[in-house]
Amino acid sequence: MQIDLLHLIGWAALGVTVGAIVFRAAYRMGREDEIRHHEQKERERESAFYYRGLNYLLSDEQDKAIEEFVKVVRINSETVEIHLSLGNLFRSRGEVGRAIRIHQNIIARPNLSVANRTAALYALAEDYRQGGFVDRAVEACRRVLSVDPDHAKTLSSLLILHESEGRWDSALQVLQRHKRVTGKPDPRREAHLLLRIGQEQMVSGLPEDENSGIDRFRSAVRIFPGCVEGYRLLGEAQLQQGRVMAAITSFSTPQKTRPSHFFLMVDSLRRAYGLKEDLPGFEKFMAQAVALPSASPRLIILWSRILEEKASLQEAIEVLRAGTERYPGSSGIARQLVLILGRVNQWQEAVGAAERCLDHLISRQPVFQCSQCGFHSQDIYWKCPQCHHWDTMEPL
Ligand SMILES: [Zn+2]
Repeated sequence: MQIDLLHLIGWAALGVTVGAIVFRAAYRMGREDEIRHHEQKERERESAFYYRGLNYLLSDEQDKAIEEFVKVVRINSETVEIHLSLGNLFRSRGEVGRAIRIHQNIIARPNLSVANRTAALYALAEDYRQGGFVDRAVEACRRVLSVDPDHAKTLSSLLILHESEGRWDSALQVLQRHKRVTGKPDPRREAHLLLRIGQEQMVSGLPEDENSGIDRFRSAVRIFPGCVEGYRLLGEAQLQQGRVMAAITSFSTPQKTRPSHFFLMVDSLRRAYGLKEDLPGFEKFMAQAVALPSASPRLIILWSRILEEKASLQEAIEVLRAGTERYPGSSGIARQLVLILGRVNQWQEAVGAAERCLDHLISRQPVFQCSQCGFHSQDIYWKCPQCHHWDTMEPL
């Protein structure tokens, strides 16, 4: 899907560029008195290639179009744009080798404008990146940035490259530069880069590195308060230092900042309360968390399993009953409720719970689907509202 889109953009860019050049060539040919005869002949031939290439382009015959454009060997200041687009097009078709050759040829030209040199260097960096030549791609990005330090697209490419190399420090620096240039922060990415840096510091075993690692985890959750992994790592590091109370605070904070993901912290939280020899404290915290409107279905299921483990079946059933009212379409909650009701031989209620959940799920499922375009709906349409074919809706 993304390749298709890139492809389409590549063709559109090439089409616009060629169109502009053909227009300029035609305009120039009109000023005959200023141009010598043979030069005019040459330009006419050149324009003929462009016209043919453009025609192939418009009739969607890509290979023939490329052939015509490649025939325009002479690179002048105007055809640089065509060659740039052509190279990008080869890249979007997966022909990285040809793209690299074209872009290298452009860069080797003397008297290239700064804008064209930057564009060609950036294109070359993208070629290398797509070809998997990480070192060369990084080098090409650095060359772009030495000419234009605020080249936002190059900064985002370089960021992806450093991430793929696992050079988290460099990636973070580039991300911060990108933020300054574009004014668009990416707190989730920044937080996770900080976590990777912090994790590397934690493994060295030196106390000063450990503290600096903890500082990174703190920065991460400050930048992105919903960062569950940040709170988990922070809590684990605090446990390692014997600071159990601080760890409990870290593990329990996502209950407020990211309730949908808080269930991921339950095991760590239980372990921390265990170290404090305060399991009743854990149970109290969980009972309150599950009763809040923000409690997720997964949290409810997890808590009911813990209650089941300690043989508090009646309590588990009550938690799950409340859960099915709040999330009538949660098959996970319904399944857990049916299982526990079965264990205490309350079959009638078990069947009722299963039936309610199934009814709810079925009422949300589409009943008919168009055999032509895949459009689905609850009601039958004799003419598909999406593709306008007649009588194509089939029952599912
Ligand atoms: Zn249809």
